[in-house]
Amino acid sequence: MSRRFVRAACTLFLLGAALACSETSDPVAAPEADASAAPAVAVSMPVDAARILAAESSSTEWVTHGRTYSEQRFSQLDGIDESNVNELGVAWHADFPTNRGIETTPLMADGRLYVTASWGHVLAYDARTGDLAWHFDPKVPKDYGRHACCDVVNRGAALWGSNVYAASLDGRLRALDRETGEVVWEVDTRLNDVDSYTITGAPRVVNGKVIIGNGGAEMSVRGYVTAYDAETGEQVWRFFTVPGNPAEGFEDDTQKWIASTWTGEWWKNGKGGGTAWDSFAFDPDLNLLYIGVGNAASWNQKVRSPEGGDNLFVSSIVAVDADTGAYKWHYQTTPGDHWDYTATQHMILAEIPFDGKPRNVVMQAPKNGFFYVLDRETGELLAADKFMPVTWATHVDMATGRPVEAPGVRDTESDQLIVPGPSGSHNWHPMTYSPETGYVYIPAKVSSGIYNDDTVTLRRPTIWTTNYAVEKMIGLPDEMTTGERAEAGPAAASGILIAWDPAAQQEVWRAETGFYSGSGLLSTQGNLVFQGDLSGHFNAYAADTGKPIWSYPVQGGIMASPITYELDGEQYVAVASGWGGESSLPFGAISGPLNMVNISRLLVFKRGATGQLPVIETVEQVLPAHGLAAASTEDVAQGRMLYNTYCSVCHGGNAISGGIVPDVRYRLDEIDEAWQSIVFDGAFAARGMPAWKEFLSVEEVDQVKAYVAHEATLGHQRGERRLVKP
Ligand code: CA
Repeated sequence: MSRRFVRAACTLFLLGAALACSETSDPVAAPEADASAAPAVAVSMPVDAARILAAESSSTEWVTHGRTYSEQRFSQLDGIDESNVNELGVAWHADFPTNRGIETTPLMADGRLYVTASWGHVLAYDARTGDLAWHFDPKVPKDYGRHACCDVVNRGAALWGSNVYAASLDGRLRALDRETGEVVWEVDTRLNDVDSYTITGAPRVVNGKVIIGNGGAEMSVRGYVTAYDAETGEQVWRFFTVPGNPAEGFEDDTQKWIASTWTGEWWKNGKGGGTAWDSFAFDPDLNLLYIGVGNAASWNQKVRSPEGGDNLFVSSIVAVDADTGAYKWHYQTTPGDHWDYTATQHMILAEIPFDGKPRNVVMQAPKNGFFYVLDRETGELLAADKFMPVTWATHVDMATGRPVEAPGVRDTESDQLIVPGPSGSHNWHPMTYSPETGYVYIPAKVSSGIYNDDTVTLRRPTIWTTNYAVEKMIGLPDEMTTGERAEAGPAAASGILIAWDPAAQQEVWRAETGFYSGSGLLSTQGNLVFQGDLSGHFNAYAADTGKPIWSYPVQGGIMASPITYELDGEQYVAVASGWGGESSLPFGAISGPLNMVNISRLLVFKRGATGQLPVIETVEQVLPAHGLAAASTEDVAQGRMLYNTYCSVCHGGNAISGGIVPDVRYRLDEIDEAWQSIVFDGAFAARGMPAWKEFLSVEEVDQVKAYVAHEATLGHQRGERRLVKP
């Protein structure tokens, strides 16, 4: 941990609701709360900069998304360690009122846990007992879900003053009263209500400003980050990550400059993308906010910027002044992105030895497979090394800071297998950095993608428009079984937990973590790294050696990051289960072998606890034969293209659902008569299945059915089956 962060000497008065701080250059740890004086009922103290800064050296609470502004997700607590982690049991659990993907990092302050769930629900629990204090439902219209590329997830909340801040999928950001969950203010962060803007990320609060970005780079939007006054919700600044239409005038000189790195009519052909949907870090000494910027829209550079160019700031880390949003520096990980190589992945600030000197750095392991270490004051590139297999580039030229692309890597007129694929060498799942070991732990994965633009067209601008012939991206040969598809599919991936030494620029150890990806991470002073997996286990590894020490079955797949906190002198570990996200929807075929039902639930562990999880009843369902007449080959082919363009983002490539949204193949006979009214007219819109009459004709809707029936027949012949709740 950088001790430069710790400038505030603070005195915490547990019940006095006072936080007196004075500036000092000496690192002084905030005193731990007096356990004997802990109140039975939470009394919320205001959260301010001093309290968040104090978290750099005191780990009893978890007051901001990455635990600290440095986003290290490391805890100094050592009540749970290698020797006793196997004594952990369930202290309490709480099932969420939603049943979609869960990617949340809980916050814990003043004895209360603040947790977000799918769509942007917010729940506040007593951190000792699990008693629900309040629940806020943002009431997002369910058919808004089609605007999200990767499930209706939410990654967490922020605390400041007496409020908790959280965004909902439909682009609204709210301040809620911490005591009651009542709305204090609400803003619509979207530029307009036409483009597919969504928010899945957690806000951060810096200098009294709530920072939030958005998603939508698969759906043709222009990315930006906005800062709102935490008290009032007034907009303070907005930083656009890609330029707009020059004819409408540039917002500032930075926009004019970055527009010179684009060609063609990008404001029409994808609108640029570059959404900042997850990753931020803040250096209070430099007053710099670091923004992780996403992939370009469209993915295909030939469409969006046909004469090439770097296309700033797609796939970049950008540093801006935290008070004004003014540009300071950037580093672009993938100039002219062509492969959905976002740089929205988790960024960590730390002080590490480099060439014999301590350097204050920002570190990121983005999708493109290189681990980057940058000087966080200047943006100088210090290291860029492959942490996973990479075929798109041979190396990064340290003199220019630019990747050296492999020959022909943009020649995608015919199928090009490229590693990593669009799901990346590392996706959104948070890393952790342990100052004890000096290692960064990466929830990495092996992935690959087949890129092909032989049928490239700019499809409907406000829905899934990757423009890389999506049917080839996630379509797989008919003759393959589900298992083979899982093994061989372009979207298939397997998780690998890596301990990476950023100073030595090399891997130290690795552990296989099963299908697709392990969950986000937590490291602790107890020499532990905690990670969940999609088979429904919560695991602990020795931080120094990678030795698996503990594994606990929790019934549901885990994607989200664990946290830890201390109350009454006792250390707790909390993690949410809930399968979903990008891995379960468009890439649903890979989850078939998991064969489990989804459990969206918060689990809290402590030593010696003996809580039991409820019995989950499931039944096995065989994919039935259906009674639909066979369709023409032409209709099936056209339906395949339409399905993969409009439907696969939720219902799964090859019509195989990951189980989070209905697998239509299982219900064909049941909904045969109602097919047009459901798909064309939107009879199930209130349940989340929108009407498609704006986008598809009646004939096309029938072609989609012909394709689904074709896939259902193949699945029935393969003897496909799945587990469902009765
Ligand atoms: Ca993307």
